[in-house]
Amino acid sequence: MNFKKLIRVIPDFPQEGISFKDITTLLKDGEAYQAAIDQLAEFARKREIDLIAGPEARGFVVGTPLAYALGVGFVPIRKSGKLPAETIQATYDLEYGKDALAVHKDAIQPGQKVLIADDLLATGGTIATTIKLIEQLGGEVVGAAFFIELSYLNGREKLPGVDVFSLVTY
Ligand code: AMP
Repeated sequence: MNFKKLIRVIPDFPQEGISFKDITTLLKDGEAYQAAIDQLAEFARKREIDLIAGPEARGFVVGTPLAYALGVGFVPIRKSGKLPAETIQATYDLEYGKDALAVHKDAIQPGQKVLIADDLLATGGTIATTIKLIEQLGGEVVGAAFFIELSYLNGREKLPGVDVFSLVTY
C-alpha cells in the first residue's frame, strides 16, 4: 500500500514554513485506513501491551482503532481543562505553538505497559510530554506508533529508549 500517495501535503499551513501532512485524505479511504491500522497492530502485537494512549485529537483517530484491534483499553491524553476527573498535567512545545496536556490520575495503574499512538511525530514534544505523564502514573512506555514521521525534525532524539514505528517517513 502506497500510504504516501494518500497523504495530502499542504505547504505553509497553519503558518509559513510548515509543510502540513493532511491525513484526512488517507482516512476517507477505508481500505487504506484499515491497512494502516493493521500495520501498526502488527508492530504492537510483537510487544506485551496493556493499554494504548493517544494525544488528542488525531491520536484518537489512530489510537482507538488500534486499541480495538488489539483488544486493549484506550487512555485519552487531552488538552488541559477537558478531562472531568482528577488529572495530572505537563506543558509542552509544538512545531507550532505551546500547550498543556493532561491525563486522568486513575487512567494507568503502576506497572501497566503502554503503547503510544499518534498520527505524526514532528519535534517529539507532544510524545515526550505524553511519556512524562504516563511515567508519572507509574506506567511503562513500551513503544510509540505513528502514521507519519518527519525525520528532519529529529523527534526520535526526544524519545530515547523508545521503540518507534512509523508507516511513512518524510
Ligand atoms: P510534535 O510535538 O512536534 O511532535 O508534533 C506532534 C503533533 O503536532 C502531531 O500529533 C501532529 O498532529 C501535529 N503536527 C506537527 N507538525 C505537523 C505537520 N507538519 N503536519 C501535520 N501535523 C503536524
